[in-house]
Amino acid sequence: STPFGVDLGNHSAVVAVAKNRGIDIVVNEVSNRSTPAIVGFGVRNRSIGETGKTQQTSNLKNTVDNLKRILALNADSPDFEVEKKFFTCPLVDKDGYAAAQVRYLGKEEQFTSVQLVAMYLNKLKDIAAKETKGNITDICLAVPVWYTEQQRRAAADACHIAGLNPVRVVNEVTAAAVGYGVFKTDLPEEEPKKVAFVDIGHSSYTVSIGAVKKGELRILGSAYDKHFGGRDFDKAIAEHFADEFKEKYKIDIRSNPKGYNRVLAAAEKLKKVLSANSQAPFNIESVMNDVDVSSQLTREELEEMVKPLLDRIHVPIEKALEVAGLKAEDLDSVEVIGGCTRVPSVKTRLAEVFGKPLSFTLNQDEAIAKGAAFICAMHSPTLRVRPFKFEDINSFSVTYYWDKDAEDTDHLEVFPKGGVFPSTKLITLYRTSDFEIEAKYTHPDQLPNGTRPEIAKWKISGVEVPEGQDSAICKLKVRNDPSGFFTIESAYIVEEKEVKELVENPEAKPEDEPEYKIVKKLVKTKDLNIEYEGLALPKDVLAEFFEQEGKMVAEDKLVAETEDRKNALEEYIYELRGKLEDQYADFASPEEKEKLSKLLMDTEEWLYGEGDDSTKAKYIAKYEELASIGNLIKGRYNAKQEELRQELRAKQEA
Ligand code: ATP
Ligand code: MG
Repeated sequence: STPFGVDLGNHSAVVAVAKNRGIDIVVNEVSNRSTPAIVGFGVRNRSIGETGKTQQTSNLKNTVDNLKRILALNADSPDFEVEKKFFTCPLVDKDGYAAAQVRYLGKEEQFTSVQLVAMYLNKLKDIAAKETKGNITDICLAVPVWYTEQQRRAAADACHIAGLNPVRVVNEVTAAAVGYGVFKTDLPEEEPKKVAFVDIGHSSYTVSIGAVKKGELRILGSAYDKHFGGRDFDKAIAEHFADEFKEKYKIDIRSNPKGYNRVLAAAEKLKKVLSANSQAPFNIESVMNDVDVSSQLTREELEEMVKPLLDRIHVPIEKALEVAGLKAEDLDSVEVIGGCTRVPSVKTRLAEVFGKPLSFTLNQDEAIAKGAAFICAMHSPTLRVRPFKFEDINSFSVTYYWDKDAEDTDHLEVFPKGGVFPSTKLITLYRTSDFEIEAKYTHPDQLPNGTRPEIAKWKISGVEVPEGQDSAICKLKVRNDPSGFFTIESAYIVEEKEVKELVENPEAKPEDEPEYKIVKKLVKTKDLNIEYEGLALPKDVLAEFFEQEGKMVAEDKLVAETEDRKNALEEYIYELRGKLEDQYADFASPEEKEKLSKLLMDTEEWLYGEGDDSTKAKYIAKYEELASIGNLIKGRYNAKQEELRQELRAKQEA
């Protein structure tokens, strides 16, 4: 399968594939290099990506965006209320998690966030498959650094539902930093360069500090502001105009979802214009109650509106530097990505906090997707990529807990905050029987709002106390794996055994007999069973979602094909009618002409009447009915053309 990297943005996703020549950004069906992160539902089908965006304003109640924000979001989290304000469809609590309620195929439906993200990923997969004409299965998915085990598992589940194999879930900014390390040609060989990578997107803001040298990257520290991005700017602008229009036009735009959404869309445009100009007009025709609104905004005014946000810009930087154990002046460069960093006041503030000019070495919009595709290629058995080593940093401390038995503790902080991953550690427990062990975040208060601390539970069975011992010595190989998941890789019993060991004697000559001694050593005597219970979806639920997704895709496909056949029929009617009076005129008998003209008229009437909403089979049948006569005439016409060509050639050769 072609290595596939996805930057799952909250505003839009960028997808990249790795080829032998390098990494390519994949364009979508309308040749855009990013695809809106939107899933819309209709009476017949879903509209995902560009089509969802096109229909958004007319289908607000059934359009879902901000997918990345609600993925596995607990319904009792304070963030659930925050997200509700950004949604135009009802955000509901389904089995404790955020889900969207929409009307689809004429019925009220609730889709879980995992299903929604899966729908979107499936669309991205389709875009990549069409463009590369290859098989897209393996994916490296980039997610925010603040995604916990819960969200990471959900992201992987969403991949599975979309028929993708998540070879790795990677932190977004880390992916961009990998791209920097791989593609920058002038990196030092010895002493690594210390680089701050800053990403401010649509909804969140991340800073990661990396040590980069040729062929190697280590993330030294990361921090984030989960609620800082372009959408907060848009909202501030929209709110400003909502107040202004109340005063000026006596309309309450907040009470009119469609109107408010148009203001929000215009606010985003205005914000972008203000990144280039110091002042910009703001006009919307008939925004509500047939009122046209007209106003303007200056860059200074915008800056004033978002001041509370800008005043927070230093926080993640300071935190990340602290984790990294560095000061801003230790940094060799500050690399900036993400759409929101195009805002001049954001750039100015960043440069002030770092105390140095910003660099734009990376492609602001595509760096994450490219890095992710490269990482996916690293895992590919078929594609050879240049060797690159990278280590990420663990954002939240994790402790493993068990009930005390013969050992003297009942927990251990195995993966501290700031530790590197991937990483493997060995825990030794002294047990008299089967037991359970659980992983939890050590400090729930340091997690994103409302995250539950539980990560996973394992039942370890098969414990037998060896003869002559009070307890079995159990070794657990625990892992913070490359995707950031917390796992137990293996569990086994060791026993002290007498083993023969070669005595090292540096003076021994080759002809000397080797000398052995008997030593006591811990050797593995038995593998234990591990039963995992974690935050990933149960297999049966996953299978059900996978099947449902397949059905919805088939439905969408049928609708698209039906539409295609309908358009083909319409075009054929016009084409045939035109030609019948023109080039085909001499090749049809008067009876044929009359018959065909009537058939064309009838078909046209049908198409604009009851046939406006018919089936694919019907459109094909109608087409073929016309073509059975049309092709006969066309055949005669073509034969005549061929005859003329032959004559011409004969003349030229003569
Ligand atoms: P996130 O990383 O938060 O999940 P994302 O990756 O989808 O979101 P980006 O694509 O990095 O976000 O950035 C999109 C944001 O950047 C949008 O809010 C958009 O309005 C904003 N943006 C894009 N171009 C400009 C510009 N020229 N001036 C100001 N803002 C811009
Ligand atoms: Mg982003």
